[in-house]
Amino acid sequence: MNRCRCLVLNAALGPLDYRVPDGMHVEPGSVVVAPLGPRQVMAVVWDEGRLPGTEVPAGKLRPLLSVLPVPPLAAPLRRLIEWTADYYLAPLASVVRMALSSSAALQGGGMVTEYRLTGAEPGRLTAQRTQALERLEGQQATIRELAEIAGVSDSVLRGMVGAGLLEAVRVDSDRPYPEPDPHHAVPDLSPAQAEIAARLVAVVEEHRFQPFLLDGVTGSGKTETYSEAIAAAIEAGRQVLILLPEIALTQNFLTRFEARFGCPPVAWHSSLKSSERRRAWRQVAFGGAKVVVGARSALFLPFAALGLIIVDEAHEIAFKQEDGVRYNARDVAVMRARFEQIPVVLASATPALESLQMAEAGRYERLILPDRFGGAQMPDIKIVDLRTEQPERGHWLAPTLVRALVERAERGEQSLLFLNRRGYAPLTLCRTCGYRFQCPNCSAWLVEHRLSRRLACHHCGHEVPTPERCPECGEPDCLVACGPGVERIADEMAEILPDARVAVVTSDTLTSPAKAAEFVDLATHGGIDVIVGTQLVTKGFHFPELTLVGVVDADMGLEGGDLRAAERTYQQIAQVAGRAGRGEKPGEVLLQTRHPEAPVIAALACGDRDAFYAAETEARRSAGAPPFGRWAAIIVSSEDEAEAREAARAIGGTRPALDDVMILGPTPAPLALLRGRYRYRLLINARRSSGLQTILREWLEPLKFPPGVRVAVDIDPYSF
Ligand code: ADP
Ligand code: ZN
Repeated sequence: MNRCRCLVLNAALGPLDYRVPDGMHVEPGSVVVAPLGPRQVMAVVWDEGRLPGTEVPAGKLRPLLSVLPVPPLAAPLRRLIEWTADYYLAPLASVVRMALSSSAALQGGGMVTEYRLTGAEPGRLTAQRTQALERLEGQQATIRELAEIAGVSDSVLRGMVGAGLLEAVRVDSDRPYPEPDPHHAVPDLSPAQAEIAARLVAVVEEHRFQPFLLDGVTGSGKTETYSEAIAAAIEAGRQVLILLPEIALTQNFLTRFEARFGCPPVAWHSSLKSSERRRAWRQVAFGGAKVVVGARSALFLPFAALGLIIVDEAHEIAFKQEDGVRYNARDVAVMRARFEQIPVVLASATPALESLQMAEAGRYERLILPDRFGGAQMPDIKIVDLRTEQPERGHWLAPTLVRALVERAERGEQSLLFLNRRGYAPLTLCRTCGYRFQCPNCSAWLVEHRLSRRLACHHCGHEVPTPERCPECGEPDCLVACGPGVERIADEMAEILPDARVAVVTSDTLTSPAKAAEFVDLATHGGIDVIVGTQLVTKGFHFPELTLVGVVDADMGLEGGDLRAAERTYQQIAQVAGRAGRGEKPGEVLLQTRHPEAPVIAALACGDRDAFYAAETEARRSAGAPPFGRWAAIIVSSEDEAEAREAARAIGGTRPALDDVMILGPTPAPLALLRGRYRYRLLINARRSSGLQTILREWLEPLKFPPGVRVAVDIDPYSF
């Protein structure tokens, strides 16, 4: 072809046509550099006839400048990009950008110089060098990256090179990764596991599209089971993508993977250093990365020969991206598998209702592991009724739970207290004048963090040091903490068991994969008596000595009118309960609640998952909620409150009148002010499963707004 249509990356433009100069070879998917006005931009050559646009006369076309030396994005990935843009109403260029990661990744690296500690005796050290020595242990990267890790300037590190403390190593920035060995340490599977593994392996070998719902109770060995499918894919010379909901879980997973396959998989997440990111991206594209474990963005990587996708903890809401392109990685994973014609496994102990429904409809094949591995029993779940027994004043743990904690301590067993609230207290006020600390950028209270002596907003990250006096009335020492957060529960633990080693586990404390690894190691080997944690501790961890789980406030997630509140509460509590009694000793779970009669709590207490799902299915059906009807949200925001309101009204004023579509709003969004932007929202509910995107497109595309107004569409929203 001597002309082609391209998707231009850093432009809010539609597709553009270019001339292909003589001697240049491009094909659909080729990544090219193209002229745009006076600039040079990255672009991807697209299939003929698939992108809109009018034919520009050949004489007016500008020539492409060069082709980047990376494999063209393959057809299945191009179809996935189109589908994602179409389904989530996102600009194609934004989705392509997720696939290309960063322009640096495309340039290739060749040999680069990296640095690492020499281990030489340091002699007398400056404070900065001491810090660098501590933080750079085990690291190898460029000076710039090491400086960032160490929190010192480049010149400090250059000085250390001069002093023989750091040494240079020449490495190929494009070197392939070690290959996982499918035969390294094959476990003996239980008969139930073996049967499921055989089924998965068969489909991996057939190399065809098939979604599986691997539905197994916590501790049933889902990982061991799907690892056989991974082994089969490696054996067949194909690549594997494993999606995990949180980076904090990755480390745990890497260790287990290494034990099974002899080397860790390639990690992909947002906190990779840029050299790691480049190497990973390129090796995925060239086939030198066999198994990738990543956060949701790994879904758009340009795999050379993908053979299997695993979505672990597939019910997790962390798979839903809440800004930029608002996609649900679980659904996109199934679509990628479909375009690639490969199997995909959704693994969970508490599947999303949508996934169960797909299994019931025969679209997904359901594989069930009903029992824990090695004869471990499911924990016994009991209710602590807070209406009849109260914690002491200013405390949050009721006598039954306190007694159980003391008992565990006496027996040398581990306990876990779950409260999904970071910090010390969710609200801080002045005892004298009643002043409340609020975030200046969001409609939210500032949360006190005693460990770091700060008040912080959990929505935008705004932080101030905890003041000594009230900013309103000037009274000293007048701040009162209202309600509990995990830090406060940890304090209460210290009162109850002064000698206990208590660990607070939240995204504030497990800030890096290394910290997460340290925690797992300590907790596994008897270094922690009581873990107090947020949702971060509800999943994936396996601590053999953990025999008691206390849920401090089982009702917390049920407040507010959220569509998925019941399901999420069920999943969270079932998952955290699943941490108890995974070893030889039986586990016990105590739920503190004021609503023992609520269907979720009752179902948890009698271990009747089917009853819960049946009731929830009916509730969703009558509300026209997924999977029986479709919802979408339109979020209109601006830094100017009146402008946001006007724009939302303008949208509301042009609403289409359709029989089977209900449109609610505009109303102020639940977080009416977020990161300095005022937000209004409209909700759209369609009782049919198709056409929602067309309705939205026809409705919104003709509308024009001031430049400060952003209109975002959220298809299948999670929280509203
Ligand atoms: P799940 O992911 O279903 O909650 P895990 O995969 O974490 O369960 O397994 C629970 C525990 O049982 C882990 O420590 C795992 O190593 C162990 N386990 C499961 N299956 C086997 C097996 N076939 N052989 C040895 N250990 C197993
Ligand atoms: Zn804020």
